Amino acid sequence: MPPLFRKLLIANRGEIAIRVVRTARRLGIATVAVYSDADASAAHVEAADEAVRIGAAPPRESYLNIDAVISAARKCGADAVHPGYGFLSENAEFAEACASACIAFIGPPPAAIRAMGLKDRAKKLMAKAGVAVVPGYLGAEQSLEKLSQEAERTGFPVLIKAVAGGGGKGMRRVDAPDEFAGALEGAKREAQSAFGDDRVLIEKYVTRPRHIEVQIFADTQGNAVHLFERDCSLQRRHQKVIEEATAPGMSKSMRAAMGAAAVAAAKAVNYVGAGTVEFIADASEGLKVDRFWFMEMNTRLQVEHPVTEMITGLDLVEWQLRVAAGEPLPWKQDELRSRGHAIEARLYAEDPQSGFLPSVGQLERLRLPQAGDGVRVDTGVRENDRVTMYYDPMIAKVIAWDEVRETAAAKLAEALSETEIAGVRTNAGFLVRALRHPDFLAGDVDTGFIDRHRDALLRRPPDAQLFARAALLVVDDRGRRARRNDPWDAQDGFRLASEARETIELACDSARASIVVVHHRGGGLRIEISGQPVVPLTHAGAIRLASGEIAVMAEGNSWIFAVEDPFGEDDSAIASADRLLAPMPGKIVRVFARAGERVKRGQPLVVLEAMKMENTLVAPADAEIAALEVAAGDQVDGGAVVVRFVLPRDSAAT
Ligand code: ADP
Repeated sequence: MPPLFRKLLIANRGEIAIRVVRTARRLGIATVAVYSDADASAAHVEAADEAVRIGAAPPRESYLNIDAVISAARKCGADAVHPGYGFLSENAEFAEACASACIAFIGPPPAAIRAMGLKDRAKKLMAKAGVAVVPGYLGAEQSLEKLSQEAERTGFPVLIKAVAGGGGKGMRRVDAPDEFAGALEGAKREAQSAFGDDRVLIEKYVTRPRHIEVQIFADTQGNAVHLFERDCSLQRRHQKVIEEATAPGMSKSMRAAMGAAAVAAAKAVNYVGAGTVEFIADASEGLKVDRFWFMEMNTRLQVEHPVTEMITGLDLVEWQLRVAAGEPLPWKQDELRSRGHAIEARLYAEDPQSGFLPSVGQLERLRLPQAGDGVRVDTGVRENDRVTMYYDPMIAKVIAWDEVRETAAAKLAEALSETEIAGVRTNAGFLVRALRHPDFLAGDVDTGFIDRHRDALLRRPPDAQLFARAALLVVDDRGRRARRNDPWDAQDGFRLASEARETIELACDSARASIVVVHHRGGGLRIEISGQPVVPLTHAGAIRLASGEIAVMAEGNSWIFAVEDPFGEDDSAIASADRLLAPMPGKIVRVFARAGERVKRGQPLVVLEAMKMENTLVAPADAEIAALEVAAGDQVDGGAVVVRFVLPRDSAAT
């Protein structure tokens, strides 16, 4: 049999580009990667058979540039384009441009993309097709007066959503009438800057909301089926972090009702290919067939599609390609079976300790879990690659399958706890704690889970054993330097004494300690903090970062220790632990804290508008504020000091 297509261009980057290459290769289809200047030596470029440069680093000039992608496809003779997710995947013009160039677009017809493209239009269409939608306001009239009236009528709490929304941008929950005007302003500002369209709609905020979505597949012959549901209720900033299939607590009748609604939605827009219909369910009294509503349809492959693949044994990308080549779906709804349970965790370069802000930098260490035995790892980066502010900061998706949910969760937590990543902050430890949380294990999930359990999910402050582990690395480094006979170390004469002591000053998260290392004659050493002996956490990995700081890694967490240079003139290194920096350039839009105030870990301090989002910078630890270095309206550079804290001495608990 000839392959479905001769040559497939993947108009995307990172893990999804690599994942598509894998399937194409198995099907005998040649692959072409595209790349921006920031990605010239990226993993996805290496993975494909050939690669074409499409422009500069900013997405608008490369991955979102329709002309550049089409001409790359023409140039290399591709007969099909897979858009992945994000970027051009839900862009009807791009699908049309592919058609005009006689290239198969691996996705639905442009009309279906358009029909589902705007949230208000999609909801109207679904209501007409008999699918329940969340009550609210979808009108064209956008004055503050009208919108607040409609919010009142809908009943608080309400959710303001950008009509053109996506990625949680332009979305605000409002609990009371007096907060409405401020929230509307924020939502419109964000929507305008992200989508160039500030229109909003209003929805009733569903209580105990669970995000449950249904994977659908349709072919060109008019067949449509669903491939069960995924629960994506574990979210931060209204965005998914842990997804699973099937949904906990799902009954047969609920699945049948949601599946039927999803297939009806697909049929209403003459859908073809893989798509996802997202619903919001009110789980205040368990899942009920009359308490779920259509939110939106994503007319593409989802990030979280692997959990569906693992419970069905199907390769969704293969079926996207087969359907695009005109093959009919071979299954009837009642022939489809799911087996076991799969859970996916999105491993992000972001800092849960500071409100999940993206963290950019070089992956100075990257040890991902071992794949195999029901564990799948999809990644698009390698050690020493950079996470930049241009693209999504996802490092990898780690997915685990097992016969039952609890064992799948345990397996995934175990896999994630093996990761060692340094150079950027990650959520690995956070994911491990979420997956091991008793409420998660009990299936008691809704979109408020992360906020509700924040304290239990955030990483603990460094204890004495971690300080001692970091100190050991300093000792090792100095020892190595001394052995190399570096003249700089000639001052380091302590090793000649019979029992020599050295003191190492370290700071991490607003905790600080003086660690005394006692070297015994004839080798061996002992560590003391505040006069107490401490056993270092030796199983934790530790590396010296390019910044000079030390990362200590255990159970997916990493603690970053600033080291005071004993021979240095000032202690700027150690001072870096007492300040909060702007993670990226942007504008300060709000300031909540005052100098002299005592703040709790996780407490919002300022709002920074950057990367088209309003990012709340929070206190990384319980601390006292020494000074605020910014005011509302200030433009700041990435790395600028925003807040200074008072650092208590020897605050590491023994
Ligand atoms: P986006 O397209 O920007 O990601 P969605 O409409 O998909 O926005 O919503 C994102 C998330 O926000 C949902 O997964 C859900 O957790 C929450 N959400 C959306 N609508 C509602 C609602 N009416 N009530 C409660 N939560 C909601």
